[in-house]
Amino acid sequence: METIKTIIEPFRIKVVEPIPFTTRAKRAEMLEESGYNLFQIDAQNVTIDMLTDSGTSALSSRQWSALMLGDESYAGASSFHHFKNTVKNIFGFSQILPVHQGRAAERILFSELVKPGNIVPGNAHFDTTRANIELRGAKAIDLPCKAWVEASDEDFLGNIDLEQLEDLIQTTGADNIPLVIMTITSNTCAGQPVSMHNIAAVSKLLKKYDIPLYIDAARFAENAYFVKNHEHGYKERTILSIAQEMFSYAQGAMMSCKKDGLANIGGFIALNDSDLAERLKVNLIVSEGFPTYGGLTGRDLETIAVGLTEVLEDDYLNYRAASARFLWRGLNRLSVPLIQKPALHAVYVDAALMLPHIDPEQLPGQVLASELFLEGGIRTCEIGTAMFGKTNEKTGKQICAKRELVRLALPRRVYTQSHFEYVIEAFANIQERKDKLSGFSIVHEAPVLRHFTAVFSKVLKTSQSPVML
Ligand SMILES: *Cc1c(COP(=O)(O)O)cnc(C)c1O
Repeated sequence: METIKTIIEPFRIKVVEPIPFTTRAKRAEMLEESGYNLFQIDAQNVTIDMLTDSGTSALSSRQWSALMLGDESYAGASSFHHFKNTVKNIFGFSQILPVHQGRAAERILFSELVKPGNIVPGNAHFDTTRANIELRGAKAIDLPCKAWVEASDEDFLGNIDLEQLEDLIQTTGADNIPLVIMTITSNTCAGQPVSMHNIAAVSKLLKKYDIPLYIDAARFAENAYFVKNHEHGYKERTILSIAQEMFSYAQGAMMSCKKDGLANIGGFIALNDSDLAERLKVNLIVSEGFPTYGGLTGRDLETIAVGLTEVLEDDYLNYRAASARFLWRGLNRLSVPLIQKPALHAVYVDAALMLPHIDPEQLPGQVLASELFLEGGIRTCEIGTAMFGKTNEKTGKQICAKRELVRLALPRRVYTQSHFEYVIEAFANIQERKDKLSGFSIVHEAPVLRHFTAVFSKVLKTSQSPVML
């Protein structure tokens, strides 16, 4: 029995990258110039960047040395075999197709499987997954995500609702459902995990209707961590064997290696159906590259192969969970309203609850995100009405999203506990003056994906009558 309980970073630091510091006056100026849109701010002016956990991992010394082994041969490179064998071992599928990132895997897979008018159910589709389904003229359906709807004590809020899934299959007809996608963990549901029990039950149900199950595996190791630590019967199992079991229930998987691949770029499709794989390769060659590199360099393939092995290590995942918990608890202690269950890849703040005097129409999430930048050069992402809402063309009013959240994404192996203490202190300062913050209106917006380029401005008078929640 170990006597020291503190979970520390399971690495020491060999290379450091200085982070920029700016003055408050400069940040205020930048906010105004950018139209209070953090996507428009240069990274060189961001002190702590929590915009995304995608492609932002720090590479290990093993990855850096593997990079030098990258075989850049056009066909049959040894780096491809290293990559393929690693993926095969974890995912268990025989056909492995590399792609440059996750959305390419979606586009290529759906081009063969999804037809106009089809329905593709899932626990909660990632936004590019949904867009790629809709580009095929099909409909993406989320079968509800409890994390958004209710505060719950359940451990696996990313699960799919089995009853609703079977109802949907019966009303739509199995022939109209080319596949079901389980996203583990569910980014769209605040990073909440899916239980092994749920994956197995979905698989069993789908077998009855002969519908294939695919797993969107971007954060599969983080999901396996939750299974090991919160699902009965998995405590003694290795993360690798849990991952292998999760994928054994599926006909295939897609992965963005920019997350749990611990790499800065890359992805793949993995499946057993060799006829389908041959058809996918035609598309892969036309749009990504030869099937032994798929738009990646040999060094990327090496980096991913090592990353996929490192992400399964207990020391890494325990530290990952401990640092997410540290931030979550620090904010919770300040009474910052949070999504109930800490995820591993991000902490989600409920900005509507934190700033109840700002009507959802006036974008409390965007207000909080821009205040965090002003306070400490901290860049986060609004996930609320700025991102998912719409302007009513007739009235000019906002059609609001369900929730007004701000996501503090956690890049892998990049920030340490003191960086998180800094973020917590920034929140403490904002908590003290939060009642004085005023809302935003949208001055300019693009017709699609407006949050990337929208221009906001401060509404000088906040609504006279605060919204009661
Ligand atoms: C990031 C992500 C994708 C898309 O992958 P990219 O590498 O960004 O193209 C798909 N699904 C999930 C769950 C993701 O997190």
